Amino acid sequence: MIHANPIRIGIVGVGKIVRDQHLPALAADPDYRLVAAASRHGKVDGISNFPSIEAMLEAVPEIEAVSLCMPPQFRYEAAHTALAAGKHVFLEKPPGATVSEVEHLKASARNKGVSLFASWHSRYAPAVEAARDFLASAHVRAAAITWKEDVRRWHPNQEWIWTPGGFGVFDPGINALSIATHILPAMHIVSADLDFPENRDAPVTAHVVFRAATGLRVPMELDWLQTGPQSWDITAETDKGSMLLSGGGARLVIDGKVVQEGQEAEYPALYRRFAELVRSGRSDVDLAPLQHVADAFMLGKRNVVAPFFD
Ligand code: NAP
Repeated sequence: MIHANPIRIGIVGVGKIVRDQHLPALAADPDYRLVAAASRHGKVDGISNFPSIEAMLEAVPEIEAVSLCMPPQFRYEAAHTALAAGKHVFLEKPPGATVSEVEHLKASARNKGVSLFASWHSRYAPAVEAARDFLASAHVRAAAITWKEDVRRWHPNQEWIWTPGGFGVFDPGINALSIATHILPAMHIVSADLDFPENRDAPVTAHVVFRAATGLRVPMELDWLQTGPQSWDITAETDKGSMLLSGGGARLVIDGKVVQEGQEAEYPALYRRFAELVRSGRSDVDLAPLQHVADAFMLGKRNVVAPFFD
């Protein structure tokens, strides 16, 4: 079905996630018309391409919204430019390299009367809402987060993730936090140990402990050197049974029984949410996951470990 009035959107920072997820999601959604792209090297076939967001917005003034998909350290300037030009803005995760820059973007969006969306794709994994409902109905006695993956497999030759503002193992870890902050009670960090390879400026492993107001203690283990099976799990022991949310939110198991599992469709859901925000004149900017990462760096003990080579 063709939408009578599709949102004219431009995409910025054409790299891995744009090709893997944004382009297919936009192509399948009649609510959008992708009209242009801006990237220093990347190109999108069949539309106008520009070397910068400034050039794109000047040449294609009918653009109503932009999706900003470059690494977080380089997103603020582009977001600021787009908001100043009165465009709605979709931010890839994490929404920025610092908490205050995103607060500033929030205020700019409000002043300009446009929508700002800090997207957290893992929140839209198929079993996350079911886990949230289950935990809301239960008394949680214990919980734990385990996010262990192989950086060489998922981020080959990506240098930005190892530089300040790239977050290191918190780049995937913030996905865990985007789910945890959605399904568990409000928590704060009480201790963090961050392991930095001696030749890198971002951690490769992290051991973090959260505490909720209820006294619940939640350990989080992040490891970027996990070969073999990968783990993206949140577990909880409750008065209603043992919960395992696995596969990065794909599958919910209670007392050993699968109760929710579905086809992964996170980016189509993100774009549906963004269209809702644009059409209703609202923003959605939850900074809780980013704040936890900032707190881990603020409170964390820094250990120097073996060098990392791709
Ligand atoms: P990427 O491919 O390394 O980078 C995306 C594009 O950003 C690059 O192709 C580059 O395009 C542009 N870029 C890189 N450095 C830049 C700089 N210094 N200034 C301006 N633009 C720059 O990264 P990605 O994997 O797509 O990740 C981008 C964002 O998506 C990250 O925030 C990441 O956390 C998030 N994300 C990634 C994945 C994944 O599986 N990779 C999954 C979910 C979310 P040009 O050189 O053409 O300008």
